[in-house]
Amino acid sequence: MKSTISQKRELNDIVGAHLLKHHVPPREPSKQLCSLHQEERKLYCLQDQEAICLVCMKVKEHQNHPVCPIQERAVLTLQEELKEPLRLMKEKMKAFGHIKDVEVKMAGHIKVNRVH
Ligand SMILES: [Zn+2]
Ligand SMILES: [Zn+2]
Repeated sequence: MKSTISQKRELNDIVGAHLLKHHVPPREPSKQLCSLHQEERKLYCLQDQEAICLVCMKVKEHQNHPVCPIQERAVLTLQEELKEPLRLMKEKMKAFGHIKDVEVKMAGHIKVNRVH
């Protein structure tokens, strides 16, 4: 039986590796100009799933759309991405004692399906 401390360390390693893999240097802001208004794209339209500028936000097209600052969204995306490996890790830990159980249940399920 593994100690809780080593399991925690394993979890931290996964998170750390994930952060390293996804760490990209921030892009030149000047390269993110809006093609319509030549303004910096500082906002992200959640409705259209695209980066927009401050002028875009005011035009009719995006007026009633939920928008958020791009920096904030980048953080949110990272948090979302981290959820998956963490969830898998937790499931792995949880499932460790129940694998046999699940296999038996699945085998039973397949048999039931094949009857008719
Ligand atoms: Zn624009
Ligand atoms: Zn929009």
